[in-house]
Amino acid sequence: MLNIVLFGPPGAGKGTQSQKLIEYYNLTHISTGDLFRKHLGEGTALGQQARTYMDAGQLVPDRLVIDMVDEKLDEDHQSKGIIFDGFPRTIAQAQALDELLEKRKMPITGMIALDVPDEELVQRIRERGKTSGRVDDQDEAKIATRLEVYRSETLPVANYYQKQGKYVAINGVGKIEEIFQKIMHEINQLQTYR
Ligand code: ADP
Repeated sequence: MLNIVLFGPPGAGKGTQSQKLIEYYNLTHISTGDLFRKHLGEGTALGQQARTYMDAGQLVPDRLVIDMVDEKLDEDHQSKGIIFDGFPRTIAQAQALDELLEKRKMPITGMIALDVPDEELVQRIRERGKTSGRVDDQDEAKIATRLEVYRSETLPVANYYQKQGKYVAINGVGKIEEIFQKIMHEINQLQTYR
């Protein structure tokens, strides 16, 4: 199996690259942001609970995220593996994910981190906000909050995977196709050496 954590700040291009990767490697995409937006759209209880956090650019509480992923992992995916996008976003989530995967005998192959400078992130998110309809993409203060939360809560997760020898960083600035090629190259290395 190929189980990849695609990591990086908001606006780094995780969603875009995930789409290409799931197609190329026949993987299942688990994007916690997308899943929450789906719940919101369907008006479920979980969607209601997540809304205030999402609209403010804050993290949804770990328990809600972890239980949602746990449930998602139980679906019969029939794929070659999973891309985790936007998850894990805290150390507690990373530990929980290791336990969830341990239970299912399907370890993480590696984490691929997309590096993009803040100025570029803000520009990309603002641009996306024009068409995405996402409240959190349309407000400077909310964008700033998300970047701060990323730095304080999420960045330590990179270190968690680095300690396991599973961390690779890639420059996330450039043409979508070129970045995709670099990610594929790293995935091939990960597959060869583990
Ligand atoms: P982005 O990466 O552009 O910020 P996402 O679609 O990944 O967007 O997430 C949107 C929002 O959903 C986050 O700001 C947060 O409120 C919530 N969310 C998504 N994934 C998680 C997670 N793993 N833990 C906590 N909250 C999350």
